[in-house]
Amino acid sequence: MQTEQDYNEGETMSEVYFFDFSGSGNVLEGIDRLLENCTRVREGRGEGIDFGRKRVAVKAHFGELGNYTHMRPAFVRHVVEHVKGKGGDPFATDTTTLYPEGARVTVEESLRTAAYNGFTEEGLGCPVSIADAPDGYNGVATAEGEIVDFVKVARAIAEADAIVVLSHVKGHVLTGIGGAIKNLAMGCTTKDCKREQHRAHGLVFYDEKCTGCGTCAAVCRFSVLEMVEGKPVWDFDRCFYCSTCRFSCESGAIGILKDGKERFQKGMAESAAGVMRVMEGKASVFLNFIFDVTPLCDCAAPAGMLVVQNVGILASRDPVAIDSASIDLIDSAEVFPSWGVTPPDILGKINQTDSWIHVREAERLGIGSRRYRLVRV
Ligand code: SF4
Ligand code: SF4
Repeated sequence: MQTEQDYNEGETMSEVYFFDFSGSGNVLEGIDRLLENCTRVREGRGEGIDFGRKRVAVKAHFGELGNYTHMRPAFVRHVVEHVKGKGGDPFATDTTTLYPEGARVTVEESLRTAAYNGFTEEGLGCPVSIADAPDGYNGVATAEGEIVDFVKVARAIAEADAIVVLSHVKGHVLTGIGGAIKNLAMGCTTKDCKREQHRAHGLVFYDEKCTGCGTCAAVCRFSVLEMVEGKPVWDFDRCFYCSTCRFSCESGAIGILKDGKERFQKGMAESAAGVMRVMEGKASVFLNFIFDVTPLCDCAAPAGMLVVQNVGILASRDPVAIDSASIDLIDSAEVFPSWGVTPPDILGKINQTDSWIHVREAERLGIGSRRYRLVRV
């Protein structure tokens, strides 16, 4: 039997279905129930979703090499089986990274790392591809926003008939929480679109803190940073804003703009809205998995100690509603005491930002509603 809990009042309220890990239900059956509920016709709430004869992109972050808290391959497999059972033709997909460290910057490396982490055709039961192949820049561009000059959706995702976005919910150093909106914005776009979003936070050089050690120039894989008279000089037209130089500076001489996190989150929301625009008219389903919630994202290896007890899995057709519910559920979960943080917005506090910035902006851009009704399945 379903129970419903209204978290907010309002007319445009989206359904968010919730499989609660605190119960003893079978998780695979739970995923089926989430998808059944999310795709069926609801009176007065538009059409149902039919995966039949559709090429369905099953988008998941396959995890950085050495990260051990990313999405479970078994969950992806079960979604693949569900889509196949409905007559769909699924493929599992992810995109290349902007940052050159790690092992996912090229398509070849990405596929090798995916296989290492358990995401293979044999294991998932469907082809595994990198959506911005062959070079990380292959995509479909759409209109600009106020922060980003363009959005470019990875080709294989843009050309799919439908998409199921599986997001492991965790923290992120720039966005507080990382969920469905982030997976759309960063996970479904090309390398140059990722750069465009990171450009929003900028890079700031503090001359007085610089010792002239040259480490930043030495680590820049793109050779856009050189030492001139003992100080680093950037060619920002060619900079990828990957922050490798920033993270390598032990003197704290490289930072981001004062409002960099806010600008980044707004640019990210614009990018998510661009992806939704390209996918307009196509079936889109979002699944948020709230387990192994770390302070950092799945690009980090490791991503830090766990923040809260495992919560459960959510499903919705609304990326804004599902991320809103994820923030609220994490805030109401049992926090591991060593973190010393209290709600609201636990992950935002840990990452010294406000997670709601990108969620509010995504709502303002019209891709969903923060008002939701939580329906337990
Ligand atoms: S790593 Fe930091 S301290 Fe060293 S040269 Fe670069 S900015 Fe200066
Ligand atoms: S200058 Fe820094 S941020 Fe720019 S590409 Fe090089 S390492 Fe990345």
